[in-house]
Order: sequence, then C-alpha cells, then structure tokens
Amino acid sequence: SSSGNGFPNFRRKPVIIIVVGMAGSGKTTLMHRLVAHTHIKNIRGYVMNLDPAVMTLPYASNIDIRDTVKYKEVMKQFNLGPNGGILTSMNLFATKFNEVISVIERRADQLDYVLVDTPGQIEIFTWSASGAIITEAFASTFPTVVAYVVDTPRSEDPTTFMSNMLYACSILYKTRLPLILTFNKVDVAAHQFALEWMEDFEAFQAAASSDQSYTSTLTQSLSLVLDEFYNNLKSVGVSAVSGAGMEAFFKVVEASADEYMDTY
Ligand code: GDP
Ligand code: MG
Repeated sequence: SSSGNGFPNFRRKPVIIIVVGMAGSGKTTLMHRLVAHTHIKNIRGYVMNLDPAVMTLPYASNIDIRDTVKYKEVMKQFNLGPNGGILTSMNLFATKFNEVISVIERRADQLDYVLVDTPGQIEIFTWSASGAIITEAFASTFPTVVAYVVDTPRSEDPTTFMSNMLYACSILYKTRLPLILTFNKVDVAAHQFALEWMEDFEAFQAAASSDQSYTSTLTQSLSLVLDEFYNNLKSVGVSAVSGAGMEAFFKVVEASADEYMDTY
C-alpha cells in the first residue's frame, strides 16, 4: 500500500511504463501504437521521450529530452562519440529529473499512464547511472513497471531466445520492478513458442538440443535457471504494426501496478 513503502509522496496514479528492449525490437513503433490506443480509448496518458539522439518520432511527446539537451552539441562540447554523447545527454537530463517528476505530480489527477521511450541502445539506459537515477526517481513517486520489448520473429532460435531472456532477467534484478515480457511483431510470428518454452523447460531443452554446439550445452543448464525467473514475470503478445494485443497489454500493466503496490 502507499503508506507502507516509505515514500511519503507516493501516489497510485499515474502508472509509469518504461519501454526498453534491444535496438530494432520495435520500442518506438510500439510507443506510437500505445499512444494511438490511449487516444481511441480515452485513456489519459503522458508521453515521454528519453532518446536524445532520435531524429524524428512518429508520436507527439509531452516531455522530450531533446527539448532540454542538444545531443549534437553535447558531442561537440565534450568531444564525444555517439554513445558517449547519448550517455552524457542522459546524465545532464538526470540532474534535472526532479523537475520532470514535479510536472507529472502536478498533473497526476488527470493521468492514468506515462509512457516512456528509451534510447535505441538498451544498455545506455539499463546499465548507466543516469538510467538508474531516472528509474529510481519514477519508482519512488509512482507505481513503475518495465515493458521489455522482444523481437518475436528474431527470437525463434532457442539460443537467441535464451540470450534475450537472460538480458530481461538482468533488468529485472537490476531495477527490481515488475517486468512485462512484451512479445512484439506477432503479426510476423506468433509468440506461442515462447510461452511453451517458458512454461516447460524440457520443451525448450528439446528445441535447443538440435544445436550441437558448446553453447547449446550451456543453454541447457541456463534454461533451468531461467525457469525460476519466468515465475516472476508476466507476458503478453502484441503487434505495434497491426495493433493486436493492446487491451491485453494495458491489463497486464494494471496487474503489474497492483503487484508494485503490494510489494513496495
Ligand atoms: P526500436 O529501435 O526498438 O525503437 O525499434 P523501431 O520502433 O524503430 O522498429 C524497428 C523496426 O521494426 C522498424 O522497421 C519497424 O517498422 C519494425 N516493427 C516494429 N514493430 C513491429 C511489429 O509489430 N510488426 C512488424 N512486422 N514490424 C515491426
Ligand atoms: Mg527507438
């Protein structure tokens, strides 16, 4: 409950949805679809872009890191490459993040969700100090969940699937926030195989055993470890392109927010 979590200013709404995933998994396209869905359904949402290097966004954002930090100038000023530029831009933005939180707090009564898009390269957000500061600032003020976007068609190979799940696992343990495995691109490949592998590690091992490489032996052992991880997760199949799974996605978000309220 909100009184038990030790954060005096904690509110039940809005729910913060941090969208992360490998480059190309479809985060930005999914954000666009989610925003469109909230408009159609009269869900009250706020949209935030935390990618300083993105050129154009398909959706309109309420809060955009690019309004505060000029990525190209940061690169020039500090003599940085692209990744250093993104990281430094995020650091600069993180120092002002209490202001961002205040803006959301002032609007809290009129908001159900805040959708947050993150930089293309996942580790820049998930493994940086500023990513941690931003995540922590959200999570100490509002119920916060992580939507981990998976490129479903590119995860049909067992070894790739497992690498992706290990990455998701590391994010769960790093953020300690409810994690929603969001299997995207189900218009290209259904995520049924993933549900089966997560449900039954022997089914996964059978699939992995067709690959005779050394990695495959490792894959077999790691699948046992992941079995425990899957018990702590929710998952949903979506398509940012066709719009499939939007209702299901928000249902899982609500369940995860409830879980957040019970846990923290
Ligand atoms: P990001 O790097 O994670 O932000 O990924 P993008 O949103 O830029 O998408 C990467 C590519 O995947 C683009 O070519 C998108 O059109 C495509 N894509 C994203 N979502 C879907 C989907 O649900 N179905 C299909 N078929 N393609 C998608
Ligand atoms: Mg993107």
